[in-house]
Amino acid sequence: MSAGDTEVRRELVAANRILGHEGILDAFGHVSVRHPGNPGHFLLCRARSPENVELADVLEFDGDGELAGEAGPIPYVERFIHAGVYEARPDVTAVCHNHAISILPFSISRSVRLRATINASAMFGDGVPVWDIAAEFGDSTDMLVRNMAHGRSLARALGAGPVVLMRGHGSVVAGNGLRQVVSRCLDMDRSATAQLAVATLGATRSFTAAELAPHADLPPGATRDDRAWEYLLHRAGLDQDEERGHGEGR
Ligand SMILES: [Zn+2]
Repeated sequence: MSAGDTEVRRELVAANRILGHEGILDAFGHVSVRHPGNPGHFLLCRARSPENVELADVLEFDGDGELAGEAGPIPYVERFIHAGVYEARPDVTAVCHNHAISILPFSISRSVRLRATINASAMFGDGVPVWDIAAEFGDSTDMLVRNMAHGRSLARALGAGPVVLMRGHGSVVAGNGLRQVVSRCLDMDRSATAQLAVATLGATRSFTAAELAPHADLPPGATRDDRAWEYLLHRAGLDQDEERGHGEGR
């Protein structure tokens, strides 16, 4: 295992713990990263609550969502979400699937979409798409993404965007790197909370196309994402962990 590979695995453990600590992930949901040395594969932890994962829990999966290493550890059922998105989106190097409470109403509503209403939601533009598993697979599924056909269908609904909601279930957040995905998850949560709160305040307004334009011109948000990452590491108590290697031996 190369030094770069180990560093990516450590960052993946940190992303799990941060998203668990912030309440985006609870006992369920997961976050993955494209394999740094083999872009057809990805890294995802064994089926364990994200806030509890350790370096030894990180597993490698192939492009079809199957375990690339030795059989034994139990993988997440919905790993095909990640496989489907990585297959469809070469630009994406990290993915989070979550059931964040704040976005669930927007996954159920027939008329209101999660959209750009504050700076944090500028990435949503006219609205976040909602994937309905029943549209392609009928109403006899258990709503879980259990195979590559489900994963590919979901990835089609994501399209070229950063987020897709899943009806009555949760969301998928995609990005270039774990830090961007973590930032986007928190931006999504904040945006949904604000948009839902304002629903009680009468007429509302979204960003205009002109107001969105400067956001589209911004370079990739490395500086912003790094700043958020440092803050979130501290909140999760992980900045003290740096020299101990993010959970090795814990
Ligand atoms: Zn799920």
